[in-house]
Amino acid sequence: MSDDEKTGLSRRNFLMVTGLAGLAAQTGGLVAAGIRTGRDPRTFTGWESYNPGTQFFDRRRFEFDGPAYSPVGSVSRPGHRTDYVFGRVATFERAFARNPDWTLDDPIEGLGLPPDLEAFYREFPERLEWDFRTFSETIPNNRRDRREYGDHYRLAEAYAAGFEAHRALIPSPQSPPEVSDYLRPRGRGARIPEPVPFRSPELAAEFVKELAHRYGATLVGIARMNPDFLYSDGWRGCPPGHDFSRLPEHWEYAIVVGVPMEWDVVLASPHSSTSSDAYDRISTTAFRLEGCLKSLGYPVRTHSPDAGYDLIVPPLAVEAGLGELGRTGYCITPELGGNFRTAVLTTNLPMAVDRPIRFGVAEFCNKCKLCAEGCPSGAISFADSPDGMVIRGYEHWYINNGACYNYWRETMGPMGCRLCIATCPYSRKNSWLHSVARDLDARDPTGAVSSALLVMQERFFDAPDAEAYRRPPHGEFANYRPPPRFLDTERYLDIPVTRPGKGG
Ligand code: SF4
Ligand code: SF4
Repeated sequence: MSDDEKTGLSRRNFLMVTGLAGLAAQTGGLVAAGIRTGRDPRTFTGWESYNPGTQFFDRRRFEFDGPAYSPVGSVSRPGHRTDYVFGRVATFERAFARNPDWTLDDPIEGLGLPPDLEAFYREFPERLEWDFRTFSETIPNNRRDRREYGDHYRLAEAYAAGFEAHRALIPSPQSPPEVSDYLRPRGRGARIPEPVPFRSPELAAEFVKELAHRYGATLVGIARMNPDFLYSDGWRGCPPGHDFSRLPEHWEYAIVVGVPMEWDVVLASPHSSTSSDAYDRISTTAFRLEGCLKSLGYPVRTHSPDAGYDLIVPPLAVEAGLGELGRTGYCITPELGGNFRTAVLTTNLPMAVDRPIRFGVAEFCNKCKLCAEGCPSGAISFADSPDGMVIRGYEHWYINNGACYNYWRETMGPMGCRLCIATCPYSRKNSWLHSVARDLDARDPTGAVSSALLVMQERFFDAPDAEAYRRPPHGEFANYRPPPRFLDTERYLDIPVTRPGKGG
């Protein structure tokens, strides 16, 4: 009996069956791989569908037990009308408009300032000088400059205007936290439902982070709320006489979210750049997350660029594990450096909190002074470390926000500067080169890598002198890098344009 007769399968048929089986297995494998790939969020091509993978830096080995910052002296909370530069200059502007002939030689009482701001200026007279210069000299000069050169920045302003238009849709709280935080967003006074319990604080944190990314956040971290970082007055929706010493009971946690400004736009700082893109995106992200958590019954207040803030963000971003405080006084992160804008949601949803991280920024900033060297207003300290810089009871880097704001009002295009963000070696896209440099530096205890990186940065990243960013006759309205093509007014608009100088 032949083999074929024994098995009942001819050699030809055997080969055919095994071939078909192999083909089926391969096809099955391909289909399985296709299904797996299709489920990978990185393949979800489309608007905002890429965000869950953006917080890629593995923080675990750089974490430590918080808090990252502890008081070293007597703590006082920042004032909304004093320390917060926008609140302060708005108050000064109103007083100066009522007393337009007032000069620095006159007694300060002649301005009719609120007592807290008058006391602040007595303690920090250089802030009064900067604020006075802003409204007596810088803004009038800027009006003249805009008449002469403004058309050169028409597209930069138009780009920002698109994001600004959306700003009007982001609501701000209209009543104290104990009321507004318990109302449905745009719910015509309807209260949020009873809270729906999560299975655990860990799962609540996981859910919140996933949703934050899906709503648009690049970075998200969670910290316990620290009342030291709340403004001592002026919370949104609170009437005169409100007791600001009382921390709202439901502000137990702070969810900190962040998105970058567009990389090519931020490099065209200060005159052809804007922060409006990130302000709009992070405000929208936070508002979405507020809506989600309120629908599950948790009170929330959003603090964002478009809705306003009742707290200061950088220390909360650090406690939430997003990064470290740099020389510029804001948080530097592994993924985005300082190129990000933030929002915070205060809530009582019980969540597992993140731990702060140390990945080398403190040591790097002590050596690197690039932001201070490039700052056109001299607002950033050149000190070798923040030792002894104690602000309201905490020791940390601190900038002169009066000098910084003064320069904002000197700039052309959409208001602002952002140069310290553009020049910082940490604010680089996630190219393989930056990725290797960041990982090596974070793991090097000797400091040799940071010293080498700094030399490379100074050699290969040419930048205009600080004065070149100023208005004529000091400078020529230089930008750090030329603007991207879509902001080139002369390419697109059929209007006469006066160029301000090189690099603008
Ligand atoms: S934003 Fe500009 S002016 Fe302000 S600190 Fe940064 S570099 Fe200086
Ligand atoms: S430019 Fe240098 S000193 Fe300034 S924040 Fe960045 S790393 Fe620190």
